[in-house]
Amino acid sequence: MDTRQPLVGGNWKMNTTEDEALELARAVIDACDADLAQQCDVCLFPPFTWLSQVGHAASDTPVLIGAQDVSDKASGAYTGQISAQMLLDTGCTMTLIGHSERRHGLGEPDSLLNSKVHQAIDQGLQVMLCVGEQLAQREAGRSEEVVANQVLAGLDGVLKEDLSRMSVAYEPVWAIGTGRTASPEDAQTMHQRIRAELERQYDAPSASGIRIVYGGSVKPSNADEIFAQPDVDGGLIGGASLDAGGFIEIVRAAASSAAS
Ligand code: PEP
Repeated sequence: MDTRQPLVGGNWKMNTTEDEALELARAVIDACDADLAQQCDVCLFPPFTWLSQVGHAASDTPVLIGAQDVSDKASGAYTGQISAQMLLDTGCTMTLIGHSERRHGLGEPDSLLNSKVHQAIDQGLQVMLCVGEQLAQREAGRSEEVVANQVLAGLDGVLKEDLSRMSVAYEPVWAIGTGRTASPEDAQTMHQRIRAELERQYDAPSASGIRIVYGGSVKPSNADEIFAQPDVDGGLIGGASLDAGGFIEIVRAAASSAAS
């Protein structure tokens, strides 16, 4: 029996004005009562510019705030970058690293992502490491190998005692923002493979303690069947997180998957 608390993240990407961000955050915060928060962790990932405002709205509530990226440097002459300490100052407790729109879209290599992971952990942030294969890799039958390598490279040098700060988001690139979703069985197979890789690299208790969430066109209508898979511990939600009502339905689906 696993005891992993589900985690659902809302990745707003480069969307929302300041007013829209606050309205969306407040609607999620209002709907996320103590009962729901006890059954599922919820983290919002607004654009950097609204982190302080959204962080303020979420302070003293169970809703967590995360950043969509973090610098691998602590401070200094790095124009345009945002450090882990700056994120912590806004009320952030988590950051995404390696989202496909950065890994593939901006060409961030595994070595940089691993360096970001170390920086974030060292400064006290939690990390959601995003991994996922591209369509051509899936069609070539290389999905599991590609994803396992991304996980190992991202975690290179991370100590077992720091794994409690980590979660993994499996997000097949071909499913992000496309309306296409991995089948629940395919998601389960990949999550199981990731967990097996973590067990090989660390040990069984560490592997069974880490949350592996699924991302890629999750919506209220498909959340139940995806979250019902034993190794799927919640989701990272893009497009559907911009609607508070739909996002909360997804959070409820994750909460009830843990209860059943
Ligand atoms: C994401 O941005 O991580 C994501 C999964 O997006 P979408 O839900 O829109 O596919």
